[in-house]
Amino acid sequence: MRLPPDQTHPRMRPTAVSRLKRAPTARQLERALFDEALDALAAGFAELPSGEAALPSERLREALLAAAGRLHDSAPYHHPFYLGQMQKPPHPVARLAYGLALELNPNNHGRDGGRASVAMEAEAVAQLAALFGWRAHRGHLCGGGTVAHLEALWIAREHGHRAGIAASAQAHYCHARAAGLLGLPYHPVAVDARGRLDLGALERMLAAGTVDTVIATLGTTATGAVDPLAEIVALRRRHRFRLHVDASYGGYFGLAGNLDADTRRAFEAAGAADSIVVDPHKHGLQPYGCGCVLFRDAAVPAAYRHASPYFRPDDDAAPAPGAHALECSRPGAAAVALWATLRLLPLVPGGAFAEGLAAGRAAALSLHAALENDARCAPLAPPQLDVVVWAMRAGSAREASARARAVLQAAQAHDLHLSLTELPRALLEPHAPVRVWDADTLVCLRACLMKPEHGPWLDAILERLAMAIREACG
Ligand SMILES: *Cc1c(COP(=O)(O)O)cnc(C)c1O
Repeated sequence: MRLPPDQTHPRMRPTAVSRLKRAPTARQLERALFDEALDALAAGFAELPSGEAALPSERLREALLAAAGRLHDSAPYHHPFYLGQMQKPPHPVARLAYGLALELNPNNHGRDGGRASVAMEAEAVAQLAALFGWRAHRGHLCGGGTVAHLEALWIAREHGHRAGIAASAQAHYCHARAAGLLGLPYHPVAVDARGRLDLGALERMLAAGTVDTVIATLGTTATGAVDPLAEIVALRRRHRFRLHVDASYGGYFGLAGNLDADTRRAFEAAGAADSIVVDPHKHGLQPYGCGCVLFRDAAVPAAYRHASPYFRPDDDAAPAPGAHALECSRPGAAAVALWATLRLLPLVPGGAFAEGLAAGRAAALSLHAALENDARCAPLAPPQLDVVVWAMRAGSAREASARARAVLQAAQAHDLHLSLTELPRALLEPHAPVRVWDADTLVCLRACLMKPEHGPWLDAILERLAMAIREACG
């Protein structure tokens, strides 16, 4: 069979797109381009007799429309008025390339599951590794952050790091879970008033010998705090430990031109880590099911060895990167989607992707400034990335929590979607949101301004937020 060589693409002929009306909508354009890409893919297999099965069109239609109806019961995650959780719609190029690859549904468990998509995975992963200055590296895509971190911590253990794992008290809950699965002690480290890992507390654990693996987070999920990574790296002069970086959410921000100096320094130190996780399905415009784990050492640890009668990755002179992964079957379509996204939006400072990150961050800074000017709100320190968190001022902690819940509901009634996050008193106290602490935690409001459109939409967002606060505070 004739296979198209990697990376060639048929020149755009005046086909489907030119048959569209004068000013097609984005959706019409997408459908026309998708059809054209499907035809181009089919051309590579044109010598095969058709294997197309007939479709039960009426029943298929019924099932699809039923699914569309069920999906109405969702928040409008794709709209700029959604700033609740860290949910960012995939870029059209990712959706289309994913759909295209599904025609073949390659399995990137190894080269015999998808030669092209395996090669595209290696190219895409190398671009993610380059974000941290890594050329030689080992890495692959995986189902998401949780399994990526589990793999990194598993490999740390297999390298003999078995004393204990430390991460900030604001680190993602998947780390404590991974430690449990691996049978290793887990030590949450106190945080400072900005939600960043406290160096003194960490050093005491290292000195006591209870910790030999440290997780630093570049962008916590609750508040977007960035741990002082350069200073953590410097601790290696006095202590031996393996360093893992959780950049699941924040990993791309090294590209943004508008970080503050402290935050930039932390990103610049990431290359010194032993392993890094960055999840394209968080900030990289990919559909869910796309995490990425990276190791600085390109050598394949023995832990990956397995005995399978039908699949031996090491038979290949140059094994597929994902052949050495915790997971077995992995979607080749995810690799194709990421590869196509990076081709359209390369990871370069000043490029369209970097500008999109910077736009969300600028919107977050503007929202923070607007909250600072509102006597009813007590925002945390200015955001380090693009998550903004604030408490509602009240007499007591319980009242403040109730007020935050009321604002969430009122905003929702105006189609503005925020989220809540419960934070410890120590993080809030410097901002004095309440007079009486009748609880140890406070429920705060949280906005993730992850979409580039959050910049141009900010005025409309502020208008609705002001209405909601007025209604909730009486
Ligand atoms: C989302 C997230 C994770 C977990 O990733 P999943 O893809 O949800 O499994 C880990 N760490 C941080 C900082 C995250 O934001």
